[in-house]
Amino acid sequence: MDMKKLFYLWLSISLTLNLYAQEVKFHYSLTELYADIDRQLADKPGHAPVIGISSNDVNGKIQVNTTYVNAVLKAGGVPLVLPCTLQPEALATLLRQVDGLLLTGGEDFHPLLYGEEPLRQLGDVNTHRDVYDLMVLHIALQLKLPILGICRGEQLCNIGLGGTLYQDLPAQKAGVGMHRQSIPATVGSHSITIEPDSYLHRILGREQAVVNSFHHQAVKELAPGLKVSARSADGVVEAIEGFPTYNLLALQFHPEHLVNGDDAESFMPIFRDLIERAKSYKRKP
Ligand code: MN
Repeated sequence: MDMKKLFYLWLSISLTLNLYAQEVKFHYSLTELYADIDRQLADKPGHAPVIGISSNDVNGKIQVNTTYVNAVLKAGGVPLVLPCTLQPEALATLLRQVDGLLLTGGEDFHPLLYGEEPLRQLGDVNTHRDVYDLMVLHIALQLKLPILGICRGEQLCNIGLGGTLYQDLPAQKAGVGMHRQSIPATVGSHSITIEPDSYLHRILGREQAVVNSFHHQAVKELAPGLKVSARSADGVVEAIEGFPTYNLLALQFHPEHLVNGDDAESFMPIFRDLIERAKSYKRKP
């Protein structure tokens, strides 16, 4: 093995160990490791609500960004990644085990799902994920599960309940601003105005916020039973909610990244609220 290969081997091993060390102390002895695990479990009752997190199937691998998983953990929930499979029975069995649902981001929906032919500006679509997401949403609504939708997850809630999307904001909405930021996701790039009488306003406690933006689509016609809870200055829908008809809050921006930035405390209430709604759901017989 030459020196270059040896260097990369050393680098990958040390990076792996470093990443692991951020989560738990690394023990070189099994006895110590097991004792540490038992110590950590001893004072935990294990009654935290379980939050299902939707995933994707990318090149034969189930994928979900760890930011979603970590945000749920940070708020006091237990994340359960729901595999991107198309068996309604399996998904229903899983969804009956959870107390809340987090619908995650991803590619564009196929526009035929909301009655439109695809425009040239449409991005990548993934029909497997479309069917999976709609199955998960449909079952979750029947179970009346508390839902938090993020980005594509927000668009899913809208089209799944009968609404439509702008396939491409720059092509279809006059005067639209920048909604695809190039700065890091932990930093906000445009402001939103939150409806004073909305559920979102109640949990965030303010009318203005600066959010991140990584989308070229957005809600066009709102689905029946939903209302707009926030818009950007150019009029783009940035948050929707369904209370009391649906136990549903959905956001076009990505709070799971903002909770890792300087403004973390402004956005943690979104995840804490999901956990609170999940606790109330869990308590119901
Ligand atoms: Mn935006």
